[in-house]
Amino acid sequence: MFNLILFGPPGSGKGTQSDKLVEKYGLLHLSTGNLLRGEIACETTLGNEAKNFMDKGQLVPDSVVIGIIGNCLDQHKEAKGFLFDGFPRTVAQAVALDKLLELRNTSIALVLALEVGEEELVNRLVNRGKTSGRSDDTDEAVIRKRFAVYENETAPVAGHYQKAHKFQSIKGEGTVDGIFELISEAIDKRIEQKV
Ligand code: ADP
Repeated sequence: MFNLILFGPPGSGKGTQSDKLVEKYGLLHLSTGNLLRGEIACETTLGNEAKNFMDKGQLVPDSVVIGIIGNCLDQHKEAKGFLFDGFPRTVAQAVALDKLLELRNTSIALVLALEVGEEELVNRLVNRGKTSGRSDDTDEAVIRKRFAVYENETAPVAGHYQKAHKFQSIKGEGTVDGIFELISEAIDKRIEQKV
């Protein structure tokens, strides 16, 4: 199994690059943001609870997202590997993910972090908000709040994987294809090391 984490702040391009990675490497895409929006669309109890946090730019509680990921891993035992997008977002989630994978005799192979400057990120999110219908992308105060949450709660996740020598930064500004090439090179190198 080859399990990859695509890491980076809101608007850094994780979703866009994930679509291309799924196609090239046949990984199973697990985006906690998409999974939570699916729960909201179906008006489940979990979705209604999550919406309150998401609309304010806050994180959904760890126990909720860890539960969702655990269920998905169980539902896709046949997967060649997983692509985690938007997860883990706290150190507690990273520790839980390590345990979930260990129980399944696998682990994270690589964490790729997309680096993009804050002004570019805000522009991208405001533009996305014009067409995506995502309520958390239309209000600049909510966007700023998500960056603050990212700095305080998510950025420390990088240290967790740096310690394990699994962390690598990628320049996330440029063309979509150019960035995808950088990501692919890093993955191919890691796959070569493994075999
Ligand atoms: P973005 O990275 O652009 O903010 P996402 O779709 O990844 O978009 O996440 C949207 C919102 O969903 C987050 O602001 C947060 O409220 C919630 N969310 C997504 N993933 C997680 C997670 N792993 N832990 C807690 N909350 C999450």
